[in-house]
Amino acid sequence: MRSRRKFLFKSLAGLLGWLGAPALFAHEATHFASRKSPKKTRPLVIATWNHGLPANEVAWHTLQSGGTVVDAVEAGVRVPEADPDVRSVGYGGLPDRDGHVTLDASIMGPDGRAGAVCFLEHIMHPISVARKVMEETPHVMLAGEGALQFALAQGFPREDLLTEQARQAWEKWKKTSNYQPVINVENHDTIGMLALDERGDLAGACTTSGLAFKMRGRVGDSPIIGAGLYVDNAVGAAVATGLGEAVMRTLSSFVVVEAMRQGRTPQQACQEAIERIVAWHGGHKPEFQVGLLAVDKDGNWGAWAIHPGFTFAVATSTGNELKRSGAMFA
Ligand code: ASP
Repeated sequence: MRSRRKFLFKSLAGLLGWLGAPALFAHEATHFASRKSPKKTRPLVIATWNHGLPANEVAWHTLQSGGTVVDAVEAGVRVPEADPDVRSVGYGGLPDRDGHVTLDASIMGPDGRAGAVCFLEHIMHPISVARKVMEETPHVMLAGEGALQFALAQGFPREDLLTEQARQAWEKWKKTSNYQPVINVENHDTIGMLALDERGDLAGACTTSGLAFKMRGRVGDSPIIGAGLYVDNAVGAAVATGLGEAVMRTLSSFVVVEAMRQGRTPQQACQEAIERIVAWHGGHKPEFQVGLLAVDKDGNWGAWAIHPGFTFAVATSTGNELKRSGAMFA
């Protein structure tokens, strides 16, 4: 599996003409994110978790070939959506406790428009459906059966998204779970991506199969504008991963962007929003994880999490690098 993915990365990198960039294959070599943001960088793409690396490559290539920031984030997050080995996004995602893969996604562009789908089944690329909601309807979000009908009418194929691997994981979970949804620090791997182009335009995308073995019908933060994702082209953008319920209660992405509007750096804004989540939930070290990414219009970026272990990828003209976020309870 690993070697197949390495091969894919290499082929893709060759395609992009980035073979000379030393940091490109630094998958294992994580670097601690400094608390201070690095110097201004445009264009820039930043995405959550290890699967942010191959997603960034495609997003970057999209920007370099003249695509918009919306094109870039859509193309980027479609990579883990289609990857059966990514068990938290799209095809291959872990199902709900009844064995159904149900997907949430949102997208937001520099013009302030947004689109989202939630509780969507049978469609491999919910992010592209979310974009269609944004561009082809007067609405922001479509849910469940209605979202599926819309997707099929737009020409998206109906597919079975439950892979054999994910089905086996669900069968195993059923033996010990007592039918209880799982909440822990590890079980979160949504892809959230933010892109900034040379002119300073911003877009974001967020897509997930949500909490593994969740209750049927559960929707997380990822499709909620202001919770899992927020973009304000005048200020900056933010995206969240982790326990959706904690992010929804505190509208974390919106809080991060508002903090930047008041003059905080992206790094300070992420830290403030994480502190707020923890305070909101009693002020003690919580059982759950949340990770936040932010970028401002100049290409300063920030990342922070409740617990250690949150990785993310940053692509700039000098390469695409995996980094490890600092954490409140490190
Ligand atoms: N935020 C997602 C959710 O709660 C989970 C994740 O980040 O993996 O649905």
